[in-house]
Amino acid sequence: MNIVKVSAAALMLPLACTLCAAEIPLGEVKCLENGNWSASLAVERRGNAKMLIPHSVGEIKSYDWEKITDGKVIVRCRPGWGMTYRMLALLNEFGDSYAIIQKGARFHASFLSAKAKGDGAKEIILESGYVPVKGEKFSRNLPFKSMVIPFRGGWFEAAEIYKKVVADEQYLKDARARNFGQLENVGFWFWNRRTSDIVIPPIEKFAADSGVPVALDWYWWHDIPYDTSYPNYWPPREGVESFRKAVKKLNSLGIYAQTYINGLSWDMDDPTWKDGGERCGKINRKGKFVATAWNRFSKHRLAEMCGDSEKFQQHIRKAVRSVVPCGFQGQYLDQIGNGAYGCCWATNHTHAPGGGDHMVRNFRKYLRKVQSENPGVHLSSEDCNESYMDIFDSFILTSPSYERFNGGGKVDFEKVPVFPAVYHGAVVLFGNFATMSGIPAWDPKWPDSEKWTDEKDWPTLFPDQFPVELSRGVIWGAQPCAHNFRIEDASNPSCAKLYAFMIDTARFYHANRDFLLKGEMLHPGKMDCSIKNVEFLNRGTYSKKGEYSVATHELPVVFYSIWKCPSGKRAVILVNWSRNEEKFALKTRDVSCEGVIPALSWKKVEF
Ligand SMILES: [Zn+2]
Repeated sequence: MNIVKVSAAALMLPLACTLCAAEIPLGEVKCLENGNWSASLAVERRGNAKMLIPHSVGEIKSYDWEKITDGKVIVRCRPGWGMTYRMLALLNEFGDSYAIIQKGARFHASFLSAKAKGDGAKEIILESGYVPVKGEKFSRNLPFKSMVIPFRGGWFEAAEIYKKVVADEQYLKDARARNFGQLENVGFWFWNRRTSDIVIPPIEKFAADSGVPVALDWYWWHDIPYDTSYPNYWPPREGVESFRKAVKKLNSLGIYAQTYINGLSWDMDDPTWKDGGERCGKINRKGKFVATAWNRFSKHRLAEMCGDSEKFQQHIRKAVRSVVPCGFQGQYLDQIGNGAYGCCWATNHTHAPGGGDHMVRNFRKYLRKVQSENPGVHLSSEDCNESYMDIFDSFILTSPSYERFNGGGKVDFEKVPVFPAVYHGAVVLFGNFATMSGIPAWDPKWPDSEKWTDEKDWPTLFPDQFPVELSRGVIWGAQPCAHNFRIEDASNPSCAKLYAFMIDTARFYHANRDFLLKGEMLHPGKMDCSIKNVEFLNRGTYSKKGEYSVATHELPVVFYSIWKCPSGKRAVILVNWSRNEEKFALKTRDVSCEGVIPALSWKKVEF
């Protein structure tokens, strides 16, 4: 192993971001045909430019620019999983790149978009927009600051600019000032489903085998089938007495635990809907409820709630007050983090119809009530976001497993950790969909005829999927996790190396929390290592019996990130997820190192 400390000047790296660069003024604020308002700026697109999109942690996407015609919307981002932070960037291959940023918009129904100007998208129109409430008008300014900043470099330089823009925000100071308590000591999460006799034994075994403190995000503990009959969560599926006993056992084992409750949706096809559901539902511009039938068996429609939904919120608050006192340290409230945004056009709600900022403000009031009724209990929700990050203590991620949601075929984008580069340490990230057996959880309340009866040896057919998904989140600074981990997986001979890697990952993460939980991400520089084409099983919770597809993605065999911990120590964190020993050579602004990493193993290089 050779390690050399270097200065930026010694390396032929992209130029550092021009943090002091002047902003370029956007055009006049204009009212669009649909009543929204926006300001825009056309910038030059050069070479094989890419877009840096605020989907989940962040995403880089390439385009076939020559085929794009004048006026085409290349990307439009709205709050939720489609815009977790408010920056969209054009990464030009040559010359200046451009970041369009909204400052102070985290409660607002804002949007960012990029449109082609001229055939072949010779120029890109970057647009900052807003959906007002009815009657709200603007002349020169939207209710937040919009800016375009030119810079040189890639996603990390864009993240550095954004980090500087949000540095003085009070929500960030408040979020960072929190004590995360037992959450800080978690070394591995289990995203397990069903009753305690299925959920707990594999966790207990893993905790004993690894010696690392673990956590449980407990799904399907409730009697109702998944994605049906919300918000009627109590009583537990296995009975109150058995459930309480199980939680006591988790407590005695020192396992941090939280249960699933959906914080956003009410089942329109449940009898309780007639008792206040209609009054609470979010209404779109056409006057309809915003509803999705996620559960393909029951086909029940889950309607999203408006923030002005007292009756619904009372149901959820009561459910939380029933569950938490059993002995849980946290409460997971699904969909708020990635779905409680945007507009409601109801005319019988307390807010004016339209966008504005009422949705997030009202959801925050509801969350504050949950907090005050359950003092000391952590709240958790889905995906990165700025709107609620000072209230929720943790966010679950599925994006470390993004290839499995591609619907088959070649994956043509890359997730990059912009959100952690900006916000790491201010909120705890955890999670992925890494499923060692390759078999999604099955709810016995679904029809028996739909259950797969001829499972294959998925870990042998897709040997790289589990280690890629498991290790990627850790490299981004998220706590590691396994999904639907069953007791038989821990002793399956096909999975022996994967189980050993799980244990190594838990121990490595836990021993390096100073960097991976609390650290500041440093410039990634350039890595030289082998590239491998990886196949991913695409099969979801609701996939039809016998149906699956395969996605492929070319990936570097060594994932890595570089961190400075609060005490000032710096380290490169590396993982070789492949089944062969691999060489690597890394050059960054701060360090240059090279070496060899054994198969399926982690390495830390301090400098
Ligand atoms: Zn409303």
